[in-house]
Amino acid sequence: MKKFKIAVLAGDGIGPEVMKASIAVLEALGKSCVHKFELTEADVGGIAIDRHGKALPDKTIEICRASDAILFGSVGGPKWEKLPREEQPERGALLPLRKLFGLYANLRPAVCYPQLAHSSPLKPETVKDGFNVLVVRELTGGLYFGKPKETVKSREGGGKMAIDTMVYTTSEIKRVAIVAFETAKKRGKRVTLVDKANVLETSVLWREVVKSVARGYSDVALDFIYVDNAAMQILKNPGQFDVLLCENLFGDILSDELAAATGSLGMLPSASLTDGTFGMFEPAGGTAPDIAGKGVANPIAQILSLAMLLRFSCKLEKEASRIEKAVERTLQDGFRTADIFSDGCRKIGTAEMGERIAERL
Ligand code: NAD
Repeated sequence: MKKFKIAVLAGDGIGPEVMKASIAVLEALGKSCVHKFELTEADVGGIAIDRHGKALPDKTIEICRASDAILFGSVGGPKWEKLPREEQPERGALLPLRKLFGLYANLRPAVCYPQLAHSSPLKPETVKDGFNVLVVRELTGGLYFGKPKETVKSREGGGKMAIDTMVYTTSEIKRVAIVAFETAKKRGKRVTLVDKANVLETSVLWREVVKSVARGYSDVALDFIYVDNAAMQILKNPGQFDVLLCENLFGDILSDELAAATGSLGMLPSASLTDGTFGMFEPAGGTAPDIAGKGVANPIAQILSLAMLLRFSCKLEKEASRIEKAVERTLQDGFRTADIFSDGCRKIGTAEMGERIAERL
């Protein structure tokens, strides 16, 4: 029997609703497995600004540090959009959490289930069998963090000049490439590096380092694709990919494109990992202010994020796949939240979706 400590940061908007449904699933799992889960809730995002004056209070950081993993909801909303950018929920909580815990590898599985293929904006013949692509995105480097990063007075024409810097080191590329190959080993055994090696120096270094990492994985195939072609191929046939390894900006854009191709943001989990087993697990979507408080949000992304937490941080593969299978069975049995509803199915709310999944564990 093992005991795991989980920091529960529900956040704003639909965060608390979908979190509650996923905790119901974890409690049901706890009753039928030998392991124990100790949950500690903490404020983050807008609610933390309201209660404590900042998006990531020290107490919340302390609770995260004392935990094996963070189960995160989502943060932000119109109420806090007028604050200075640095103080807003996403900038004030998400980026600092990634930095504080060195969460350099972001895993975003984009799974389109055949029974939900009708929700995809792609042609029915393209998605009729569904698809399952994993984006492994570098999360703490590249254009988002590289220095110099500033807006200065331009020397020509009296206007301004803005600079972002794309910079990567061998070790930054190597560690995220290892995550991609290790993960690919357990699924389709293929890594595709997305780059722009025809014009970017950083991409040339990415190719060099990723090729050398690949030598240690004879059972995983490696190929390369330019980012513009990758964006096009995702629309034509997303199922051709297994693991897409991307630098930060390319991964940000392509993982959203893939998310849109699956049909609903409410279905997609994500994991942000560091060395060792610590990680932060959250839905790919945001706080959905348009439906918050109505009890209609889809909790599956949050529940699948919990499954990823069990797999990566607790190393409980069996329990993780029990949750994933329960989600699939619930969909097969025709239960749907509004975002994935189609004729002939039964429309249910957030809490009931959690209950239906919990009873199928
Ligand atoms: P969003 O993801 O919140 O919503 C986009 C659309 O997807 C909306 O129509 C919403 O109803 C729908 N949607 C999202 N999750 C859903 C779910 N679980 N079930 C059913 N439908 C769902 O994106 P947005 O509208 O651009 O952003 C809203 C707020 O969320 C903003 O304040 C933004 O800053 C914040 N945000 C936070 C995170 C995060 O915390 N990681 C990520 C993205 C956006």
